[in-house]
Amino acid sequence: MGKVLIIGAGGVGRVVAHKTAQMNDVFDEILLASRTKSKCDAIAKDVNEKYGKDRIKTVQVDADNVKETVALINDFKPDLIINVALPYQDLPIMDACLETGVSYLDTANYEPKDTPKFEYKWQWAYHDRFKEAGITAILGCGFDPGVTSIFTAYAAKHHFDEIHYLDIVDCNAGDHGKPFATNFNPEINIREITQNGRYWENGKWIETKPMEIHKPLNYPEIGPRESYLMYHEELESLVKNFPTIKRARFWMTFGEEYLTHLRVLQNVGMTSIEPIKVGDCEIAPLEFLKAVLPDPGSLGENYKGQTSIGCRIQGIKDGKKRTYYVYNNCQHPEAYNETGTQCVNYTTGVPATIGAALFMKGLWKKSGVWNVEQFDPDPFMDMLNKYGLPWHEKFDVDLEV
Ligand code: NDP
Repeated sequence: MGKVLIIGAGGVGRVVAHKTAQMNDVFDEILLASRTKSKCDAIAKDVNEKYGKDRIKTVQVDADNVKETVALINDFKPDLIINVALPYQDLPIMDACLETGVSYLDTANYEPKDTPKFEYKWQWAYHDRFKEAGITAILGCGFDPGVTSIFTAYAAKHHFDEIHYLDIVDCNAGDHGKPFATNFNPEINIREITQNGRYWENGKWIETKPMEIHKPLNYPEIGPRESYLMYHEELESLVKNFPTIKRARFWMTFGEEYLTHLRVLQNVGMTSIEPIKVGDCEIAPLEFLKAVLPDPGSLGENYKGQTSIGCRIQGIKDGKKRTYYVYNNCQHPEAYNETGTQCVNYTTGVPATIGAALFMKGLWKKSGVWNVEQFDPDPFMDMLNKYGLPWHEKFDVDLEV
């Protein structure tokens, strides 16, 4: 049993709040903190109605301000912080953890506000200090990164002597009925997908133009969907932690309508992160765009369809070639009925809660800064089945990649 502090009351924070509240035997006190307290209160109202009065308490914090976070930690004394604010807050929250001796978990790697660049180097640089302080940092514990990394670790542990080719495939075949919306924080999402593509081959990174490489892939229960090669942050840690990998790629599906909107927004400069002057005020066009787009947390109500995310792996077992496909499909309406939000938040918040539970149980606890694939995948895989993200596997099938 332990005390958890959740920072960030967005779509993912909503799911983490629901899921931690369900685990009575693991989390005995839950505090939800965010920049806007009214957002915490709205989530806490729903959670406490479902799981009992005062199951979750709320407080305001600006997590960019290390002193403020330190004061909050010293007051509440959590065992672990689940950071589901934005990637910009990763380092200040890790600094606050070091100062107070509290462990840390997140779902997205640090990104400087003025450079859309996903790299683990900033967080990996905390390893020795976390080790010395005797505290744990669990990095990238959402779905991708997160479950996809654990799927890879599970495949390496049980089904392969060597993994040679890894293709992570992420399909959202849902329909929210809006002409254009992003499924998680629009600023972070658009920064991610407008970057150059990148994949690992034979010991080096190969760069592509954004969305340059694409092909149709078949997804279980969904069928063929055009899938685009993108860079995704788990590739960096997976090729380091599984050095037999010769090629690692990440594919995501996008609809024509979505890509057309994105192209127009890019062409008119609305996705730029360079601040411009408008009257007396300076604002980055992308921040303005975020303010006018639908809140991803609000997309759940009429969201139909499902997501399908998994790993398609080729390699060697007992001297023979083998292919393996492990995946989860998640239904938007089911995620909404349980937590009041859609699958993209659900598939991120459930793994974050499972990682936190495994830390509390002492199964995922070791001093230092670690990516999720560096922990034992087995208890995590068991909990995915119990807590709403059941997975399936196929052996020796055509992986289409
Ligand atoms: P949202 O924008 O919906 O929510 C983020 C929340 O963090 C908001 O409530 C925001 O507060 C709060 N916040 C922002 N800045 C601060 C601050 N300085 N101090 C305290 N709180 C702050 O984001 P999502 O829920 O969509 O995403 C949350 C995280 O999950 C992101 O890091 C995202 O990259 C990650 N993610 C990971 C995925 C994975 O599979 N690994 C997939 C999807 C998302 P306010 O409302 O006041 O602005």
